[in-house]
Amino acid sequence: MLIASRNERIYLSPPHMSGNEMKYIQDAFQSNWIAPSGSNVESFEREVADYIGVKDAVAVTSGTAAIHLALSLLGVQKGDYVFCSSLTFVASANPVVYLGAEPVFIDSEPDTWNMSPLALAAALREAAIKGKLPKAVVIVNLYGQSAKMDELIPLCEQYDIPVVEDSAESLGSFFKGKASGTFGKFGVYSFNGNKIITTSGGGMIVSDDQKLLEKARFLASQAKDPAPHYQHSQLGYNYRLSNILAGIGRAQLQVLESRVAARRGIFGKYYQTLGYLPGIKFMPELKNSVSNRWLTTFTTNETQSGINAQTILHSLASENIEARPVWKPLHLQPLFDGVKFYPHEEGVDVSKWLFKNGICLPSGTNMTDEEQVRIIECVQNHFKVRVSTI
Ligand SMILES: *Cc1c(COP(=O)(O)O)cnc(C)c1O
Repeated sequence: MLIASRNERIYLSPPHMSGNEMKYIQDAFQSNWIAPSGSNVESFEREVADYIGVKDAVAVTSGTAAIHLALSLLGVQKGDYVFCSSLTFVASANPVVYLGAEPVFIDSEPDTWNMSPLALAAALREAAIKGKLPKAVVIVNLYGQSAKMDELIPLCEQYDIPVVEDSAESLGSFFKGKASGTFGKFGVYSFNGNKIITTSGGGMIVSDDQKLLEKARFLASQAKDPAPHYQHSQLGYNYRLSNILAGIGRAQLQVLESRVAARRGIFGKYYQTLGYLPGIKFMPELKNSVSNRWLTTFTTNETQSGINAQTILHSLASENIEARPVWKPLHLQPLFDGVKFYPHEEGVDVSKWLFKNGICLPSGTNMTDEEQVRIIECVQNHFKVRVSTI
């Protein structure tokens, strides 16, 4: 029995239901609004908008769809450039390519692991000289930590470039008291199964520009002109969120704050038990910001710790623990071979270093204390072995 439970798989970030989801799903069934519209969708949009303090929100089928809509609304098209954080999931940049535009990748800086203001400034300066400024900048808030918005936003404003804030991982986070996702022209959230709250699959686009969000609703529902005979004068998408899934989202949103507290608690325990180890550094939390600590991540500096990330990942995997490397930067992806990249400083590729040396630990809020101890001991063991052989 004990052996069986020790082998139980620990997932990186599995869904965690609150227990109230079925009530909203029942409502949808009772009213027969089994459709991509209905009162759960409207309420979910209003509740998210109120929580983060923006005028409006549009619920869609995924975070990727939300980024696609945001870039469409900004008029991104063939021949345009869009600047994008390099250290992120591929979905931050794929919609740029859907629209026929070209991404340009911007490196991270060490304080937040997010877009480097130095690299962005260099990229904008060069683009301005060439007369090829980007149509938009996609700024990602990695693992719940906000980017340096107080430096990045003014830079974009200086060149009059709209920002899409990819907050897929940072719902419930704050920067200087302002909700993550409210800094750009558009903010984007994901409710994929692995995110801090989930609708099993879903996303949202938020903004203070109600007119453009009305257009987002229009484009996300096949761009039907107001006519009874299905008339279309623009290219649309089928991106609206189902009323059933929005019901899951409403119940999940009610527990968001306790989920943030729990993830921060999980981080705290990892930090206490592993933070003192030589060469181990946890992802920083910028002063004046609150990270939802979606995933606890750390780096191992091999020259100080004597152990590389691959070795630790390998032993976690052999213990049936799902840990992952930090995102592989998009400028290193075969898909984006040959795409332009601006490093943090000449010859200093921060995102590449983070990818090579970084580890994401299981951070799900339904993880038990015993499970977390299993993970902690697995990492600590490497260091015990080392000490005993010296
Ligand atoms: C999850 C994620 C997305 C995509 O969201 P989906 O809902 O899975 O489409 C986009 N950007 C980042 C940074 C993400 O982590």
